[in-house]
Amino acid sequence: MTVTPSAEFVARHIGPQGNDIDTMLAQLGYSSLDELVDTAVPADIRQSEPLDLPAPRSEAEVLSDLRELAGKNIMKTQMIGQGFSDTHTPPVILRNVLEAPAWYTAYTPYQPEISQGRLEALLNFQTMVMDLTGLPIANASMLDEASAVAESVLLMRRANKAKADAKTVLDSNLFPQTVAVVQGRADALGFEVEIADLSSGLPEGEISGIVLQQPGNDGAVIDHSAVIAAAKERGAMVTIAADILALTMIAAPGDQGADIAVGNTQRFGVPLFFGGPHAAYLAVRNGLERSLPGRLVGVSKDDTGTPGYRLALQTREQHIRREKATSNICTAQALLAITASMFGVYHGPAGVKAIAQRTHNHARTIATALSGAGLILASESFFDTVQVTVENADSIITKAEEASINLRRVDATTVGISTDETTTAAHVAAIASVFGIEGAAPKAEGFELPAAVQRTSDFMTHPIFNTIKSETQMLRYLRRLSDRDLALDRTMIPLGSCTMKLNSTAEMESISWPEFASIHPFAPEHQTAGWRELITDLEGRLTTITGYAGVSIQPNAGSQGEYAGLLAISSYHRSNGDDQRTVCLIPASAHGTNAASAVLAGMKVVVVKTAADGSIDAADLDAKIEANKDTLAAIMITYPSTHGVYDSDVREVCDKVHGAGGQVYIDGANMNALVGLAQPGKFGGDVSHLNLHKTFCIPHGGGGPGVGPIGVAEHLIPFLPGDASGTYSMRDGVPVVATMFGSAGVLPISWAYIAMMGGEGLTSATKTAILSANYIASRLNAYFPILFTGNKGLVAHECILDLRELTNKTGVTAEDVSKRLMDFGFHAPTLSFPVAGTLMVEPTESEDLAEIERFIEAMIAIHGEMEQVLAGDFTIEESPLRHAPHTVAAVVNTAWDRKYTVEQAAFPVRALRVDKYFPSVGRIDGAGGDRNLICSCPPPEAFEN
Ligand SMILES: *Cc1c(COP(=O)(O)O)cnc(C)c1O
Repeated sequence: MTVTPSAEFVARHIGPQGNDIDTMLAQLGYSSLDELVDTAVPADIRQSEPLDLPAPRSEAEVLSDLRELAGKNIMKTQMIGQGFSDTHTPPVILRNVLEAPAWYTAYTPYQPEISQGRLEALLNFQTMVMDLTGLPIANASMLDEASAVAESVLLMRRANKAKADAKTVLDSNLFPQTVAVVQGRADALGFEVEIADLSSGLPEGEISGIVLQQPGNDGAVIDHSAVIAAAKERGAMVTIAADILALTMIAAPGDQGADIAVGNTQRFGVPLFFGGPHAAYLAVRNGLERSLPGRLVGVSKDDTGTPGYRLALQTREQHIRREKATSNICTAQALLAITASMFGVYHGPAGVKAIAQRTHNHARTIATALSGAGLILASESFFDTVQVTVENADSIITKAEEASINLRRVDATTVGISTDETTTAAHVAAIASVFGIEGAAPKAEGFELPAAVQRTSDFMTHPIFNTIKSETQMLRYLRRLSDRDLALDRTMIPLGSCTMKLNSTAEMESISWPEFASIHPFAPEHQTAGWRELITDLEGRLTTITGYAGVSIQPNAGSQGEYAGLLAISSYHRSNGDDQRTVCLIPASAHGTNAASAVLAGMKVVVVKTAADGSIDAADLDAKIEANKDTLAAIMITYPSTHGVYDSDVREVCDKVHGAGGQVYIDGANMNALVGLAQPGKFGGDVSHLNLHKTFCIPHGGGGPGVGPIGVAEHLIPFLPGDASGTYSMRDGVPVVATMFGSAGVLPISWAYIAMMGGEGLTSATKTAILSANYIASRLNAYFPILFTGNKGLVAHECILDLRELTNKTGVTAEDVSKRLMDFGFHAPTLSFPVAGTLMVEPTESEDLAEIERFIEAMIAIHGEMEQVLAGDFTIEESPLRHAPHTVAAVVNTAWDRKYTVEQAAFPVRALRVDKYFPSVGRIDGAGGDRNLICSCPPPEAFEN
C-alpha cells in the first residue's frame, strides 16, 4: 500500500509493518491478513459495509482541525463555581505529570514492585486528603464529586445496619448535580431520599445518614455542629461534602464529627476540562475502611523488610466480591489525583493556605462592595462564593459576560460569584462595575469566618509537603518517582482486557490547550460551541463504529457505562409496564464490574455457567432463561468473551434472551477486536459501553481517567443518561450518572485517534491486533498451552496462557512468572483473570514485531527456569522465579549464596546488559500489609535500614 501523507499516522500507530506481517502470517499458516481474520471472526457477525467515517487526516491536519474547534469555545474568567473552580496548574507539574508519558501511560498499580512511583504519589494524595478532612483513612480517588457523594450514601447505608431501611436525608444546600446523581442511585436501589433544609434541624422519622455540604450550594459556611450532634443522637451517620481548598481555613469534617468526607480535588491544579476528568476524594473514620469504595494505597514491606507501597485490601475488588461488591468503581482518576497531590507538594501547607486566603479575601471584597451598595447576600459567612439577590439576574450575567466574566445564574433574581486561585484585584473591580458600583477600588471589610467554623488543626505536616521548595527539587522528585515505574513509554504492557495501546502525542496534545481546558462545565451554551461540536461529532463516529442508534459520552468509566446502560434497560422495561423484569444473567467469566453494576442498578444477578471450551454453557443458559422468563431483564455478555475468543453462537445467545423478553448488554471493553469488522449494535446488542481508555487511545493514567460511553439501540435512546447541570434540558427525567459531559476534557484524544485513522485505518488496527495475539499464542503454545480458542484454533485479540499444569508440577505460580517478567523489563500480563492460575496476554496492534519477540523470548526463558526447577537445579524456593523481582541491592550483595548466578538474576537474556530496569523494591508482601493497615505516608525514618 502506498502511504499517502494523510494515512501516514495509521502506519505509525500500527506496530508490525510490511515483512513483519508476512512473517507473522507465515507462522500462522495464512497467506493474507484477511484470510486470517475471515477465519477467526464468525461470518454471521461480520459487518457488510466498511466503516463510513471521514477519510483519515494527518497529524498536522487533525491538530489544525482541533485548533479550529477549540477556537469556537469562548474563554472567559470563570466565576461560576458550583463545584468547579479555576486554578493554575504549576507548569512543572503540567509538563512533567499531566503531559508526561511516564505518568500518563502507566497502568493501575496492581503490580506494586514496578509502580512505586505512582503509589507514592497516590499515598501523598491520601495523606493530604486525610489531613485536610481530619479523617484517618482516604482512598486514592473517586470518579467525580457527585458520584462520590452517591458512594458515600451507599456506604452509610451499609455501615449503619441498625437503620438499614431508613431514609437518607440530603441537605437542600447541596449542588444540584450531586442531588441528581444521588437521586438516580436511590431510585435504582429503591431507597428513600429526602431533601430537607438541615439548617433548621433534622426531619422526622428514621434516618440512615445525612449529607451536608461545606460551603453550601449558596456559598454559605455554617456551623453544622448542632445538626451533626442531633444526627448522632438519632443513630444517623454523617457525610460532609467539603471544598478541598476551603478546608485549609474551615473546620475539618472529621473534627466536626463527620463519619465521611467527600469532595472534588480539581482546584488543586487540575484544569476545569469542561467538567472532568477530576479526582474526587472520599475519606472515612476508623471502622469504615473495609467497606471503602475505590482503591486504597497502603504501606507494606518487601522480602528484605524494606517498606514498599501497594494497593491494600484488594479482596474488596469486584473481581473477587462480584455481586457482593459494594461499589463498581474500577478505573478511577489516578492521574488527576497525582496532579492534585503534586500541587500539594509544590505549594506546601502554607502555600495552599495562602491561595485559600487570597481567594477568600477576594470574595470578601466583592461582598463588601455589594453589601455597601445595599444588595442582599445569601450569607454573611462564606469562603469563595457570594450569592446576591438582584432585580434581574440575566441582565447582570450579560453585563458580566461583556466584561469577560462568567457568573452563575442561580435563578431569575439570584446571581452567584465564585473566586478562585486565579482571581485578581482587576477581576474584583470588574465585578463591582458590573453591579454599577463605581469609585475607589473596593476593599474587604468584615465578612470574616465565624470562630466556630475556623480551622484550628494543622495539616500536611509530613516532610514531603514541607521540603520541596525549588523547581529543581520538584522536577527531580517527579523524575525520581516516574523512574521507579514501568509504563508504556518503556515497555509493552501486554495486559489482557486492558488494551494498552499507543497514546500518540498528537492525540494528547490538545487536551491542555486553554480553549478546551479552561472551559467551565456550566458555561453558557453559546460559549461552548467547539466542545459541543467535538462531542456531537465523536458521539456520531462512535455510533457509526458500534452500529447503534445513539451514544452518550456522559459515563466517566466503563463501570459507569455499565450502570448507565443497565438503568436504560430497567427504565425501558418499566416504561413497558414490566417492572418485574429485574433479573440480570451474567456469565461466570464476566468482568467483576458487570455483576457489581447490575446490583447497583437494582438488578438481581443470576450466574450462567461457562462450558469446558470457555463459551457460555448453552444448556445452563436455557435453564436460567426458562427459570426466570417472566422476570428476565437482561444478559450481560462480553464480546469477544473475556476468554479472548469469538464465540460463534453469540447471535443465538442474543436471540434466546430477546425471545424471553430480555435485553442484551454487550460489554464493549474488547471492542479492539471488533472495530471495522463487526458491530455489537448489529449482531444482537441493545446497549454496550466502550472503554475509550482502552480501544480509543485515552491513556490509562496509572488508574484513570477513563471514559465509558454507551451506545444504545433506537428503543433505548429515550433512556440515555440525562442532564446533570440543572442549566440545560438535554434529556429530562432520566437518571444521570455524572455531571454534564462527564470526562469531556479527554475526549479530544479519542476524537483525534478516529480522525487520524479513518475507517480503513481503524479496521487495519483491529486486524493487526488479532494477528499479533494469534502470533503470540502460536509461538508460546508449546510452552504455555493456550486455554481457549475458537474457529480453527484461533483466538481474538488476546490469549490466555494456562500455567496450571506447570504450577502443579513445579510449584511456580502465575504470580512468580509475573514478578520474574519484571526482571526482563516487562509489565506482567493480566494475572488470574478470568481464570485463576493463568496469564492473559493482549499485545494490541501498536507493538512492533521486535517488541513482541522480546516478550516471547522472556516467556521462553522463564519456561526454561521452570524446567530447571523440574530438573532439580534449584527448588522453587531457591529459584530466581520465587526471588523475583531482583533489585540492585539484591544482586550486588557480596554474600551471594543463591543457587543461580547473579547474571541469571539480572541479565537472564543478553539484551538486558544494555537496557536494564531495576525495580526499587523486591517482592511486596500484600497480605502482611492488609493485616497491619497503614494508608498514609510513613515517616522518613521508616526507610532507614
Ligand atoms: C476494563 C473493563 C471493564 C471496566 O471498565 P472501567 O473503565 O475500569 O470501569 C468492564 N468490563 C471489561 C471486560 C473490562 O475489561
